Amino acid sequence: MGKCDSCASKGKCGSSENTCSVIVPSYGSIKNIIGVMSGKGGVGKSTVTGILATKLRSLGYKVGVLDGDITGPSMPRFFGINKERAAVLPGKSEEEAKFVPVETSTGIKVISLNLLTEEEEQPVIWRGPILTGVLTQMYRDTDWGELDYLLIDMPPGTGDLALTVMQSIPLTGVIIAATPQDMVTMIVKKVVIMAQKMNIRVYGVVENMSYIKCSSCGEKQRVFSKKSAGEQAEALGIPLIAELPINLDLVEKMESGEVEEFINSSSEYSDLLGNFMRII
Ligand code: ADP
Repeated sequence: MGKCDSCASKGKCGSSENTCSVIVPSYGSIKNIIGVMSGKGGVGKSTVTGILATKLRSLGYKVGVLDGDITGPSMPRFFGINKERAAVLPGKSEEEAKFVPVETSTGIKVISLNLLTEEEEQPVIWRGPILTGVLTQMYRDTDWGELDYLLIDMPPGTGDLALTVMQSIPLTGVIIAATPQDMVTMIVKKVVIMAQKMNIRVYGVVENMSYIKCSSCGEKQRVFSKKSAGEQAEALGIPLIAELPINLDLVEKMESGEVEEFINSSSEYSDLLGNFMRII
């Protein structure tokens, strides 16, 4: 298979190098594009994306979220907007049509394949090249308007889809989401090395599901690893942005569509916002 076979710009750029960077233009004006990456699925990448987007929005920033986890899109469910559908604004030709993102209760603009398919259960049974094309199209053909921050819930791991985002979308930097048990494993290190090789700044790591807070005494009990999040991040060689608790209330509020109010009224997520703003 040729190196360019999966590239959204195949045949348009004249390059045959895997390291080329063909930047896809966006429709709108976006100041910062932050990718949230993980070594594998299920570690809380979408959750971290949703929490950070909510906190940035609470400061008054204009925020968008691109659900880049094409085969496991979960941002609409996170924000409780999974029953809604993104409108398509017709253009003069089919190529000029634009997606209108769905807005969450606090005004975060979200686009996800699940907001574009007829039903959210519909699986995408497409091969790599089509998936990568769809991902870049969602970025390029969405009417984002003016954004201070576009957060991208990146495809998990270091495969073709993640590579496409890194090559075709001008990321300002990435943050890594990991659980305590895989913070210092090779799958997370691979992601860090991949971003560094692509000359993309790695802001740091968010350790998700770090601890459970005792409901009686408030004591934090670490789960999955005895080593502190700080020690783990140091071993990984990148800054620790925050450690997030396992929080069943968060999951419940996602289901009832009140997750943004919950996040904004909780003190658990201030480090994530504070340290992110300090590092970026
Ligand atoms: P990923 O995007 O890495 O696949 P998700 O953010 O979708 O992972 O999380 C996987 C599952 O774990 C989801 O059901 C989510 O609600 C749950 N989850 C993630 N982080 C937390 C947390 N801190 N507390 C409770 N549940 C969580």
